[in-house]
Amino acid sequence: MRCRKFFKKAVSLVIIAAVCIGGFGAFKPTVSARAESISEMKSRVSGLESQKSSLQSKIDSLQNDIDKKQEYLDTINSYISTVENKIMTCESILASYQSEIDELNRDIEKKEEELKANKELFQRRIRSIYMSGNNNSLLFLMGSDEYANYLSMSEFTENLAKYDNALMTKINNAMDDINKSIEEKNKAKKEQEAVKEELATERANLASKQQEASAAVSSVQKSKADLQKELKQVESSISSLESSIDKAYEAARRAAMEAQQGGGSVGNYSGKGFAWPLPGYTMITSPFGFRYDPYYLCYRGHNGIDISGGGVAGKPIIASASGTVTVAEFNNGGYGNYVVISHGFMNGSLVTTHYGHMMSYAVSVGQSVKQGDIIGYVGTTGASTGYHLHFEVRLNNSPVNPFGYVSY
Ligand SMILES: [Zn+2]
Repeated sequence: MRCRKFFKKAVSLVIIAAVCIGGFGAFKPTVSARAESISEMKSRVSGLESQKSSLQSKIDSLQNDIDKKQEYLDTINSYISTVENKIMTCESILASYQSEIDELNRDIEKKEEELKANKELFQRRIRSIYMSGNNNSLLFLMGSDEYANYLSMSEFTENLAKYDNALMTKINNAMDDINKSIEEKNKAKKEQEAVKEELATERANLASKQQEASAAVSSVQKSKADLQKELKQVESSISSLESSIDKAYEAARRAAMEAQQGGGSVGNYSGKGFAWPLPGYTMITSPFGFRYDPYYLCYRGHNGIDISGGGVAGKPIIASASGTVTVAEFNNGGYGNYVVISHGFMNGSLVTTHYGHMMSYAVSVGQSVKQGDIIGYVGTTGASTGYHLHFEVRLNNSPVNPFGYVSY
């Protein structure tokens, strides 16, 4: 059971080794000096990612604003169409009033003609009476002989005048009635026109509000479009950085392969020996070689030495010798925060020192370090049961007993 865990871990360590190899390329000092290191690029990516999420949240809030402003604009537009409908109703009422008034005016004209015709008829009758001097023609004119028979000449003319007067009064009364109607219609029309004017004012107010609201919508839309453009730029920076990181890893991996095969791109180690990596602490809690593993709870090989002591948490770890940082990252295989320094070739073998379980590391891939430089701080990250430094020395990536190189 316990050793299944161990086998699983053994597989992980193979992966770690692969990662280590991947880190070696940063050895080429000419490359690492000029190019941005992988961890620098990674930190730029994380900065850009936070910029991206802040832009996205700004864009979301602008969209929210646009939605609200659009809703307001829609409300105004619906008010406008209501008012326009009212205006149309008003206009149709006005038109019907006008046609009624026109009709009444025609009636008036007719009545006036009637009146005029009647006046002429009356005058003609009077003339006829005086010219003929008898009742016969009058009887004809009156159209009623029965009645006229009993009347004298003067009575007759008097009656005729009365009759005409009554007729004209009747026509005049009718005209008065029509004129009254016209007046009423005109009054109603005027009231309706006032209503229409009010509606037109309302329509104009709404139109200016509509203009403001639509300008507000497009201004926010423009801000949103600007931010989206910015977002696109950030996204493209992220993807180009990510591809640079991939390329850098690939280049590092290839350079490490070349170095493993004895390529001449890595120089010989020129420093003066190796320094103790954790100054002031000398307690070895786990030696190099086959031993009982307190984390994996089974016997297994130990690739390095564990250095600890009271109050060791957070104490500085130094570069054992000068060289180039090839790995500086959180290692998922169990090393926790992990740094590897390559020191170049010694007697034809590539020498690397490895530092695990750090609380944090203070260097980045590609960085040149001198012996004694602080590279990180003691922690208990990864597969660790307490604060200590796990320290390894490898020759061509094969772990060797560190005590062959360091002493305290
Ligand atoms: Zn260890």
